[in-house]
Amino acid sequence: MAELTRKSIAELAAGLRAREFSAVELARSYLDAIGAENGGLNVYLEVYDDAIEQARDADARIAAGASSPFAGVPVAVKDNILIRGRRATAGSKILAHYIAAYDATAIERLRNADAVFLGKTNMDEFAMGSSTENSAFGPTKNPHDRSRVPGGSSGGSAAAVAAGLAPAALGSDTGGSIRQPASFCGVVGLKPTYGSVSRSGLIAMASSLDQIGPLARTVADARILLEAIRGRDPLDSTTLESKNHESRIMNHELRVGVPGEYFGKGLDPGVERVIRAAIKKCEEIGARVEEISLPHSEYALAAYYIINFAEASTNLARYDGVRYGYSAPKAENLLEVYEKSREEGFGPESKRRIMLGTFTLSHGYYDAYYLKAQKVRRLIREDFETAFETVDFIVGPTAPTPAFTFGEKTGDPLQMYLADIYTVAVNLAGLPAISVPAGWVERNGTRLPVGLQVIGKWFEEDPMLDFAEQIEEAVATNTESFANKRISEFDHS
Ligand code: GLN
Repeated sequence: MAELTRKSIAELAAGLRAREFSAVELARSYLDAIGAENGGLNVYLEVYDDAIEQARDADARIAAGASSPFAGVPVAVKDNILIRGRRATAGSKILAHYIAAYDATAIERLRNADAVFLGKTNMDEFAMGSSTENSAFGPTKNPHDRSRVPGGSSGGSAAAVAAGLAPAALGSDTGGSIRQPASFCGVVGLKPTYGSVSRSGLIAMASSLDQIGPLARTVADARILLEAIRGRDPLDSTTLESKNHESRIMNHELRVGVPGEYFGKGLDPGVERVIRAAIKKCEEIGARVEEISLPHSEYALAAYYIINFAEASTNLARYDGVRYGYSAPKAENLLEVYEKSREEGFGPESKRRIMLGTFTLSHGYYDAYYLKAQKVRRLIREDFETAFETVDFIVGPTAPTPAFTFGEKTGDPLQMYLADIYTVAVNLAGLPAISVPAGWVERNGTRLPVGLQVIGKWFEEDPMLDFAEQIEEAVATNTESFANKRISEFDHS
């Protein structure tokens, strides 16, 4: 049943309801594919031994009339999202044996929809990184070229979907961690508006920026997953009900803004060609494309990393060798428990962020760094507010380059941070954005995917998804069906 691992969520739901195949057969197909590929790709940190049992339960519920689009559909989950009774490592040694005591709200909603959880996917430690190389459990490989990174920090989730090891996956995005790996792996990645999806049960990195969101093969699948997990949650006071857009038909001429600042130096010429061609397609489908300016773009990365480090240093204070996770065995007193547990448990990127974040929050430096960054954050948000007075969507590259090779940026953290140059402003402003596969560039005879980023207005995911779907279709008819091409490259038959 290898062809089962090629179907979209909508096709799977229809096939399951029509009893063309069972949830057990479907889960088995995916487990076989994972068995064949996971050793080489290191996508899953844990594959659930009870997936078949979950599928059997789902089959029973489908027989009894369960009608959710997820009934019996397998999903992969980034390892910083809690599943009750299961390990959640966040890619860190300090949580290597941590067992979650409750379900994240996103998980609870998928569970109530009778989804089947396949397992947990690899990630940069605490979602800090852009390549999955910061995982304490070894990097994930890019399915398109195994000498290259899948992006990060949700690299495992993106690679799982790209390699046909899950129909869809949950990731988290603090500064680009869903969109950038989606771009590198040639899948769709959606970062919802801050507050669209509950953060309850997401292991926090930077609480004012973190959001859970879907990675999927198609925009339609990303929408189905978003619909299953979003909405107000009493356990996360920052959540709101998304605006409901009953009619998905947009009844005025679409205006699309292209920020001049996103096409400066540092943008790979091959990536630029793909993005410019995709923007042309926007015109062909009837949108009015105009150049816009987001004048504070050049400060986004600096502001992001100051705020991220500050919040990360605070959130990581809870790992003290007492309350959560790893506790150093050879400590003589309480202070040593703290010191040794953190020294031995955290990887280098966590330590870097704890030190720099503590510094920027300290008395005497707070005003110069943290407060200044917060002011810049406001200016960045205002840039978007101004832009959205005249345009409906903003489009540009998701990342400045295609997937890079292992080790290429690990020696210089600043180079690694530049991978997020087009994604972090969206998190600072709390906006929704999606990366859609737009084409390919070639590196040493291998084709590497390139993603187009579409940024929408606050809580207006639905029209953004409509537009992304139109682009997806326009780009696919231009060359070849993108989703089919991707899947056929990883035929497990
Ligand atoms: N790469 C960025 C960082 O290291 C973004 C990570 C993320 O979105 N989780 O902070």
